[in-house]
Amino acid sequence: MTCYEWILFDADNTLLDYDRGQKYALNSAFADFGVTRRVDRYLVDYNRINAEFWVMFEKQEVTAGELRVARFARLFRENGLDLDAAAFSRVYLDYLSRADFLLPDALATVRYCRDKYRLALLSNGLAEVQHARYRRAGLDKLFPVRVVSEEIGVPKPDPRIFAATLDLCDHHDKSTVLMVGDNPGSDIIGGQRFGIDTCWFNRTGAAAPADIRPTYEISKLAELRAII
Ligand SMILES: [Mg+2]
Repeated sequence: MTCYEWILFDADNTLLDYDRGQKYALNSAFADFGVTRRVDRYLVDYNRINAEFWVMFEKQEVTAGELRVARFARLFRENGLDLDAAAFSRVYLDYLSRADFLLPDALATVRYCRDKYRLALLSNGLAEVQHARYRRAGLDKLFPVRVVSEEIGVPKPDPRIFAATLDLCDHHDKSTVLMVGDNPGSDIIGGQRFGIDTCWFNRTGAAAPADIRPTYEISKLAELRAII
C-alpha cells in the first residue's frame, strides 16, 4: 500500500452534486426569464452543447469568457428562443454559484482524509462559480489548496494543471499523490498521464473507457477509507 501525502479531489459529481446544481440553476434562470415550458428538453440540449464547448475550451478554441455566453446563444438559436444569452448567462451563473449540494458521504470522507493527509481541490470550471460553491458548502475550510481550471488556463486532463496544483501544494514527489474523481476522461486519464495514482469514483458502474487504468475504483466515496 502506498503512503500518500497529498490527496487531490475533483469537486463536481465527486463531492458536490453538479447534476442537481445545474438543473436547479437552469430551471431557476428559465423561470426568471418567463420560460416554463419544455425546460426539461432544454436541459438535455444544454448538457450536450455545454459538453461541446468544454471540449473546445480544452483545445483552447474558445476562452472561458466566450464559453459563458456562446453555449446559451446556441441553445436559444437551436430552440428558437428569443432570449438575451449574455443576460441569461449572468442569471444562470448566479444561481449556479449558490448550488452547494453535497453528495452523500462527501463531508465525512473529506474530514476522515483531512486527519491523515493534506488535501487539494482540483476542478474544471469557472472560478467565481466554484469558489462561491466551495464557501457555501464549507469546502474552503477543509481544502487549503483549491485550483479551478479557469485560473490556470488549461483544464484537466492537461498535465499542466496537475503540475500547477502540485506547485501550489509545494510538493513534488508524484509517488505520494492520489487523484480522486468521477470523470475518467479528465480526472483519471489526466492523473495517469501526469504520473500519479488515481482513484475512479464510478458511481454508476460504468465500464472503463479504453486506455483508462485507475489505480483504484470505488462506487461509494466512503470506500476510499478502505484503500488509503
Ligand atoms: Mg467531476
